[in-house]
Amino acid sequence: MSKASRISISGDKLCVPDHVVIPFIEGDGIGSDITKAMKLVVNAAVSKIGKQIEWLEILAGEKAFNQTGAWMPEETLERIKEYSVAIKGPLTTPVGTGIRSLNVMIRQVLDLYACVRPVRYFKGVESPLKRPELLDVVIFRENTEDVYSGIEWEANSAEATKMREILAKEFGVILGEETGIGIKPISKKASYRLMRMAIKYAIDNNRKVITIVHKGNIMKFTEGAFMKWCYACAKEEFSDFVVFESDLNGSLPEGKIVINDRIADSMFQQALLRPDEYEVIVTTNLNGDYLSDACAAEVGGLGLAPGGNIGDNIAVFEATHGTAPKYANQNKINPSSLILSAVMMLDYLGWQKAATLIIDAIEKTILSKEVTYDLARQMPDAKEVSTSDFAKAIIKNMK
Ligand code: NAP
Repeated sequence: MSKASRISISGDKLCVPDHVVIPFIEGDGIGSDITKAMKLVVNAAVSKIGKQIEWLEILAGEKAFNQTGAWMPEETLERIKEYSVAIKGPLTTPVGTGIRSLNVMIRQVLDLYACVRPVRYFKGVESPLKRPELLDVVIFRENTEDVYSGIEWEANSAEATKMREILAKEFGVILGEETGIGIKPISKKASYRLMRMAIKYAIDNNRKVITIVHKGNIMKFTEGAFMKWCYACAKEEFSDFVVFESDLNGSLPEGKIVINDRIADSMFQQALLRPDEYEVIVTTNLNGDYLSDACAAEVGGLGLAPGGNIGDNIAVFEATHGTAPKYANQNKINPSSLILSAVMMLDYLGWQKAATLIIDAIEKTILSKEVTYDLARQMPDAKEVSTSDFAKAIIKNMK
């Protein structure tokens, strides 16, 4: 096998060598268990199609802090830019105090503006739904703005006090003392580019419905504007490909994608009661966070929930869940979420055959009922196996 080299970009295309260097962040908590399992499974799959990955460890989170004194060394972000594609385990974010989210920092600094989260059912998994196989959606969550922008001030801080004064003096808005203040920016640029990526995805993957999810009835100039800009993008840039639900007369014109919208609270019950009516969901950052966990729960839980943070010619893949600290280093947790994130990565690299090998092997492994604790506790007659044994079973089941 040739020497490993990095991905290069030609125009807007990735050129991926057969022996490629992929940086990875191990992650905190359960990170080391699931990263080990993911690398084993991916190595097995890519070798079956005559390719190879050289894994390059880059540091972030607790491991980075212990080794370098920085939670997110500058070099880590530089390496991701240099190598274009990376994969990461989860990183801890303290609640209400301490450092800001390193996960959010990666997305914002590298402008990974779409968080793409496919949610589908694997046969054999027990679900709270009667017909979980009807849920098969890809959620495009805006990844750079909304209340995740980190523009917020603690109650009684000098900044919050000044903001309260400005709001009272300039706008006649009176906020009580001891009030924390946050700002929710939503821009036309971010809304357009997210919608553009979602529509291109739907066209390329033969998806027929795109649903814009928002809370525009209450937050008119942020969530409502998001909805309007998404519709406008579809109309201005994809008029040959799309029709709007409001213009439909019952039947769908051949070859077109329907664009509709749903208010966020309604979308949660729709996802439970009429999941088969939804295929691609485009939504703001916080809605997308809630909705992707809820959808994952419908098909068996977070252990099967992958994701990718995607920008223009740059992507960092990661599971939907966090560090699950109570399971750290117990070799117990389900690694499928990170393995399925790696499947998304292989698709992104153009190595679809390796991706399919892994999906088929996961399906077979779940059907064999030798699964990690999270699935075992829901599946009658299942045998609980460790993280590493589950990974080995996936490899054994790889054709
Ligand atoms: P979490 O780590 O997602 O875990 C919550 C629960 O989800 C776990 O206790 C477990 O449920 C289940 N779960 C998570 N991953 C699983 C897996 N691989 N297999 C099976 N079950 C799994 O959420 P959290 O405890 O709220 O957050 C912990 C830390 O992670 C926080 O610091 C948070 O900020 C951070 N976080 C990071 C990211 C990221 O890196 N992108 C994302 C979210 C949260 P059971 O207890 O029922 O078994």
